[in-house]
Amino acid sequence: MADEWGIELSLAEPGTLAALAERAEAGGLDVVVLKDEDNGLDPWTTAAWLAGRTESIQIAIPRETGETHKKVSPAMAEKALDSLALLAGTRLITTALDAEIAPATTLDDVDRLIEKAGDRDRSRRPAAVRALRRDGIDYDDIPASLRKTAIEPGDPGYRGVRSTYLRGGSPGLVLRPANPAEVADALSFARRHRHVPLGIRSAGHGVSGRSTNDGGLVIDVSAMNEITVLDEHQRLVRIGPGATWKQVAAALDEHGWALGSGDYGGVGVGGLATAGGIGLLSRQHGLTIDRLRAVELTTADGTHVRASAQENPDLFWAVRGAGANFGVATAFEFEVEETDKVGWAQLVLVSPDIEQTLVEFGEVARAADRDTTVFLVTGPPRQGQSVVQLYGLVDNPDPEIVVERLTPFAQTGLLAQQQVVLTSYAQVMAEAADVGPNGHHGRGEPVTRSAFLPVLTPEFAQDAARLLRTGQVYFFQLRHMGGAIADTPAGETAFTHRTPEFQVTAMGGDRAALNNAWDRLAHHFDGLYLSFETDTRPERLTDAFPPPVLERLRGLKNDYDPTNLFRDNFNVKPREI
Ligand SMILES: Cc1cc2nc3c(=O)[nH]c(=O)nc-3n(C[C@H](O)[C@H](O)[C@H](O)COP(=O)(O)OP(=O)(O)OC[C@H]3O[C@@H](n4cnc5c(N)ncnc54)[C@H](O)[C@@H]3O)c2cc1C
Repeated sequence: MADEWGIELSLAEPGTLAALAERAEAGGLDVVVLKDEDNGLDPWTTAAWLAGRTESIQIAIPRETGETHKKVSPAMAEKALDSLALLAGTRLITTALDAEIAPATTLDDVDRLIEKAGDRDRSRRPAAVRALRRDGIDYDDIPASLRKTAIEPGDPGYRGVRSTYLRGGSPGLVLRPANPAEVADALSFARRHRHVPLGIRSAGHGVSGRSTNDGGLVIDVSAMNEITVLDEHQRLVRIGPGATWKQVAAALDEHGWALGSGDYGGVGVGGLATAGGIGLLSRQHGLTIDRLRAVELTTADGTHVRASAQENPDLFWAVRGAGANFGVATAFEFEVEETDKVGWAQLVLVSPDIEQTLVEFGEVARAADRDTTVFLVTGPPRQGQSVVQLYGLVDNPDPEIVVERLTPFAQTGLLAQQQVVLTSYAQVMAEAADVGPNGHHGRGEPVTRSAFLPVLTPEFAQDAARLLRTGQVYFFQLRHMGGAIADTPAGETAFTHRTPEFQVTAMGGDRAALNNAWDRLAHHFDGLYLSFETDTRPERLTDAFPPPVLERLRGLKNDYDPTNLFRDNFNVKPREI
């Protein structure tokens, strides 16, 4: 019996082509062959039309027998086919087929073939898709619950899931569980595939977290993005890991509430709420993890656990800072804050002396009220001038207070451009771009370094200015910390560094050169925020987690992930490995 079944459509009879192709797809046939005849339709235009009308059925234009191919220039034919291949992916076939093909001019013809093909496994991928499978993955073993939504390299949806915001990737299989039971199924598959990389993905904005890879597995929980109010009075909200902070802010805004996240609304809840969450409301309300009241996780052996101050408190401690090492978080419960309008500022300064600007910015930021958070971004100076962007938030609805709070910041350079508006926190988050159906388009690997700066001293400003002048850093950022971040004692969460004045990030193009330049600043720093770090040298783990914290994490890793399944993001190895 043939492996694949399809209908052949005559291009000389255009009237019912789309209806026949749609019926073939609905009936589970594998391919529509376009018979390219004299006086018929142009096969390439027809293929494009049919690819748009159907979703998954393959469309074949046998190159060797086609009349059109014989008449047009080879360059034109190549361009048409390349365009179609790009648009329709592996759905387009131009080579000879090993399939049972029958001509069809009526719906009855199609139905007869569907009946003849019988009841076949509909989830079986066409040969052209199977040809692109990666070694080491047992595709026939994909758990039944995940088979329909899983995406592999030849599938039409692959382009939308292969890469992340900052990384290009070519995973061998993306599993897309929609509930904790399916996450457990995905993890059992991952346990049987320990020899290939495993990435856990929520919204794909990982920097330290490698939520895509080459030839491995990705467990993508973006479908788990529900936002539900559990207790209106207590302002307790349950949020799925796949929600973005932009979606969270919009949903909470309807109740007059907000939950501090990062500075970019496109980031996912799953990655940020397991690491820390240093954002525009942190000085007022603490880190995102400080508002967390409970979390549900599926651990490496597939067990679904709940962790809070009362239930599994050790795990609750670990998840708030090192969560990526302990399981797949499937839901978070946060106590959120009431909110009013906020002052949202975006200023551009020009500085002829970046060292002096950094010193002054440090002084102003140190003296700022808790309701005021301003981040600084700059790059290499050009002809002695630095362009400095300040963006920040004043959590106060009074415009006079907003201006009063921001004025000292605006005076740290020559003000070239300013925009200050009273708006909602949700609107600030809404500025992030939406991810389209084709997903993220990251390429290569990000090169970033991160550190906590206890005090912004004149010596640090001098060294930072020198670093900027090397040209190795195209993006240099100071994140204003302090305020409520230090209200939570350091030992209460695995995120330990609660008292620095700033979190500093540098992005470059050349890893070795950036490491070299950055390491020279090490004496100014105390620890690092792992969410902005891509250096994989082992010392970075103790920078993120001081030795006693790391020791406790390793002990817990032994309990919850003894075989070290979760290893894509600052891997804390179990004590016994
Ligand atoms: C443009 C941009 C702006 C940012 N701004 C801020 C900011 O202001 N403040 C801040 O604190 N951080 C910020 N970050 C860092 C961001 O918080 C982290 O990169 C975070 O991991 C992204 O989460 P994600 O779910 O979108 O990423 P993903 O790429 O989906 O995940 C990243 C990693 O998180 C882990 N992970 C993801 N989902 C889960 C889950 N459900 N359970 C367990 N582990 C999981 C995995 O290790 C994964 O590799 C920013 C990042 C970007 C790209």
